[in-house]
Amino acid sequence: MTKLCEIHSFSKPLIANLNKLGIGNLQALLLHLPLRYIDETHLTAVRDLRLGESAQVEGEIVHAELTYKPRKALIARLEDASGQFTLRFLHFYHSQIAALKVGNKLRVYGEVRSGFFGYEMVHPTCKAVGASSFVAETLTPVYPTVAGLTQGALRKAIGIALKHADLSETLPAYIYQTFQFPSFSDSLQALHHPAPQADRQALENKTTAEWQRLAFDELLAQQLSMRKHYARRRSVDAPQFSPSKNLVSALLKSLPFALTQAQQKVALEIEHDLTNAHPMQRLLQGDVGSGKTIVACMAALQSIESGWQVAFMAPTEILAEQHYQKMLLWLTPLNIQIAWLTGSQSKKDRELAMHSIANGSAQLIVGTHALFQEAVQFKQLGLAMIDEQHRFGVQQRLALRQKGQPEPHQLMMTATPIPRTLSMSYYADLDVSVINELPPGRTPIVTKLVSDVRRDEILQRVRESCAEGHQAYWVCPLIEDSETLQLVTANDTYALMQEAFPELQVGLIHGRMKAAEKQAVMAAFSRGDLQLLVATTVIEVGVDVPNASLMVIEHAERMGLSQLHQLRGRVGRGAAKSTCILLYQNKLSETARARLKVIYESNDGFAIAQADLNLRGPGEFLGVRQSGVPMLKIADLNRDLALLQTAKTLADQLLHDYPQAVEQHLARWMADVSQLVKV
Ligand code: ADP
Ligand code: MG
Repeated sequence: MTKLCEIHSFSKPLIANLNKLGIGNLQALLLHLPLRYIDETHLTAVRDLRLGESAQVEGEIVHAELTYKPRKALIARLEDASGQFTLRFLHFYHSQIAALKVGNKLRVYGEVRSGFFGYEMVHPTCKAVGASSFVAETLTPVYPTVAGLTQGALRKAIGIALKHADLSETLPAYIYQTFQFPSFSDSLQALHHPAPQADRQALENKTTAEWQRLAFDELLAQQLSMRKHYARRRSVDAPQFSPSKNLVSALLKSLPFALTQAQQKVALEIEHDLTNAHPMQRLLQGDVGSGKTIVACMAALQSIESGWQVAFMAPTEILAEQHYQKMLLWLTPLNIQIAWLTGSQSKKDRELAMHSIANGSAQLIVGTHALFQEAVQFKQLGLAMIDEQHRFGVQQRLALRQKGQPEPHQLMMTATPIPRTLSMSYYADLDVSVINELPPGRTPIVTKLVSDVRRDEILQRVRESCAEGHQAYWVCPLIEDSETLQLVTANDTYALMQEAFPELQVGLIHGRMKAAEKQAVMAAFSRGDLQLLVATTVIEVGVDVPNASLMVIEHAERMGLSQLHQLRGRVGRGAAKSTCILLYQNKLSETARARLKVIYESNDGFAIAQADLNLRGPGEFLGVRQSGVPMLKIADLNRDLALLQTAKTLADQLLHDYPQAVEQHLARWMADVSQLVKV
């Protein structure tokens, strides 16, 4: 892999700027592809300019002035043998005023618009016409760049890279035959320097054969890296647990409900995985309230019955505490020893817990991130279960996996369903189970969109609901990047609510509170001692209070769709008909409107996740997972679905038949990602 500093003509500042773009070597520089193109391959006569089209014109400045009405502008007229038109600049430097002096010869490039004096170009790029002026032979690429790195410098650097870098094929030719793709080398040449007659629209939509070829290569690289890890798992040892004979059936007998069909199905899938001698890595998806916890608990019992410990981890203290309580309730009658471990425990409690984990007397350990810590030593960890997996980074999950010898099985849970294209690509290293039905008897949640100006009516609504013996949540707006402001808002809202409802017991819960305080508040709300709970989004995940049947979410337009869906899932857990009111500020942006419409119209987590993906793109959707998984830069999962499918079918075969070629391909495509996926 050629480093940038090995190219003598690359200066230090240039390399620093390239690094800022995430480019660390020649391969990555080659794959820094244009955003769009401009056509400087020919000159257009002023007479032939067409409205809405971009053109390059050469001529002489015949008039130039600074005007101040209606606003400050630099206006010039450019003339060639066929006519004149206007150049207009609203922001400009002194150097530009000098360049636009009457008599100067210029070549300008820009889009033709109609102006007050006929055709004009606003902020065209201008070049002085010198003795050696020539017309470009290919379309001119425009690259994503950073301040301080000009297009010219970037073009030059990429030109050098094209000469120096190894452009040979990495994979056997047969994989490209189905699509009859051009070679890697031809594709790069054609994308960095397209021929003048190339279809610009297709180029910019990335649908030319050359773009598609590179998108395919990128998708292949992603699949290969994911499947490589999948295959690695098949070669690693894990403890084998035969299906439970006693504990699971005893648990099921003690429950006041029967499992749904979907729960039974996924429970069997997991049971089977645990009988394997290789570590399971299964993602259990199921909408909020679909009953993932009991399924996880069954897996835990299978492991415990075989004599192995289980770690059950949740992203927040509140949720971990709730799981702990539930496990106590379900498993104490079965004589299972459960330990509890969080960061906020007293030193003494913590040491006791650590001790029982190390000597094996704790069979199930429930906790938060604290479970990852190095000091936590398990006697024999057989299964790690992670709730709301999207809240954890790849590194954290990796750390938990390393806590067992041989490698423990992993069960990850998520209530944010993963759309199909994402699970085919970014999650190709995992096995997936889906709980696709809710337990019977749930009344659907009614969602209402209400403008903030009708706040008083909403307050009245809360009052009535609580008077009927129900409970309510009032969720404070999300304030991005400022926990302090978040806190201020939460405190203010709390004060307002206490004032508005002197007859109610109002509670407050937010992320800055100590764990014990949070637990106390949650417990009070759970018992019904509090009727109204003012909360920040800390209650987003998992919290279960069946008597709460009304939720008001302020500034709903600021939240992501999946987040809103999660929040809304906190109500509708009991028999009472539940309502979720989304308050929004009057001026809604187009996107915000589209988002709220989705959440208003749908109760289906999958549909919401798909819409979220479409609106926000995979980067935000994947959140923390992307820290370990390289993002696709060229391929688009919707546009290139056929390529993805083919890449997926080819990957395992390539790994098996051409392991060396695969390594070369990964080196080329994953060059700028320091560590490949390690999930
Ligand atoms: P989630 O999938 O969101 O984690 P939970 O596991 O918390 O959902 O389950 C939600 C609620 O439904 C819990 O109170 C749980 O005990 C209950 N539950 C789970 N499975 C069933 C079932 N088959 N029938 C009725 N209630 C169930
Ligand atoms: Mg849950």
